[in-house]
Amino acid sequence: MRSKNGWKGATQMTIADEIKQSIKMDDLFRAYGLEPNRAGFVICPFHSEKTASLKAYADNTRFKCFGCGAQGDVISFVMLMHNITYSQAILRIKDDFFLRPYEPDTPGLREYKQISAEKLRNEKKKAEVENELAELCELHRQLWKIYLHRRPKTMDEPPDKYFILALQNLDWLEYEIMCRMSKMR
Ligand SMILES: [Zn+2]
Repeated sequence: MRSKNGWKGATQMTIADEIKQSIKMDDLFRAYGLEPNRAGFVICPFHSEKTASLKAYADNTRFKCFGCGAQGDVISFVMLMHNITYSQAILRIKDDFFLRPYEPDTPGLREYKQISAEKLRNEKKKAEVENELAELCELHRQLWKIYLHRRPKTMDEPPDKYFILALQNLDWLEYEIMCRMSKMR
């Protein structure tokens, strides 16, 4: 009887081989919108550059960037692109390139469920940030109204205490709003 790990290893080996046989580097370049130039180089997605220095080689099965040194095969390319593990990358490629449907009871499906749960958590987190953002914007709107209505009309007029309250809080409110907006992207 095969050990669980041995079986898992064997299964992933087969899928990985299948991926490497059917998905070529230029398929990935196309999928990620990376256009090879006349010399076959694409702009490296793993470091900031203007001149393309990443190229496929070994019969279109491997890549190497002469700028940052990133290299590997189709699976490591996807790992680097999404900052995910080897098995997550295999799942992702299977999913994106429709190699074969998910089979129940494979380790892949379990991991797929983990990814789905993570996606759900992220969506929940995003909704929370959205709610906070809406509340902060409303608060900002109210304080801004007070600021406009209560600000001193002349230099000599003593400042209204609500005006001061609004003034003191608008800055950090704007900062908090900016923080959340950058999280939303
Ligand atoms: Zn690079």
